Amino acid sequence: MLHHETREIFVIGLKNAHAMESQALSIMKPQLSRIENYPEVATKLEQHLRETEGQIVRIEEMLAGLDENPSTIKDMALSLTGAMAAMSHTVAGDEILKDSFANFAFENFEIAAYKSLLTLAEAGGHNAAALLLQANLSEEVAMAKWLDENIVTLTTKFLRLREAGETAKV
Ligand code: MG
Ligand code: FE
Repeated sequence: MLHHETREIFVIGLKNAHAMESQALSIMKPQLSRIENYPEVATKLEQHLRETEGQIVRIEEMLAGLDENPSTIKDMALSLTGAMAAMSHTVAGDEILKDSFANFAFENFEIAAYKSLLTLAEAGGHNAAALLLQANLSEEVAMAKWLDENIVTLTTKFLRLREAGETAKV
């Protein structure tokens, strides 16, 4: 394959990742604003929100290094989808559980995206970008692991709060 094509595919992938991270922010922010009874989840979400902002900066650095800019139109479209996805859970009482399933799915989507981008970076010899992608990937892996390990504890706590009559609160 021509080097030009490898670069093109890599740039498109980075722009998609930028949109993906904008979507991540628009999913986490409304979740965070509604949590009352699960401060341990709020703390972790807050931490990953900060990480995500850093991930966006890294992607912008990578794009700038390739003389490219993120696609703001694509970002906006995906952010809207994210906000709607977060809102669709607000009516049901088990929102905290559904959010954790959705977040686990999203983190695994991000892991797949960064693994693919790393492969493209290595194929194109973009060594500086590969290091930044590895940093983003590590944060997604850690978040997915935390969500995975927290499902049982979270469900147990949800059940306990339900039994105590705390039905409406997240
Ligand atoms: Mg991310
Ligand atoms: Fe993430």
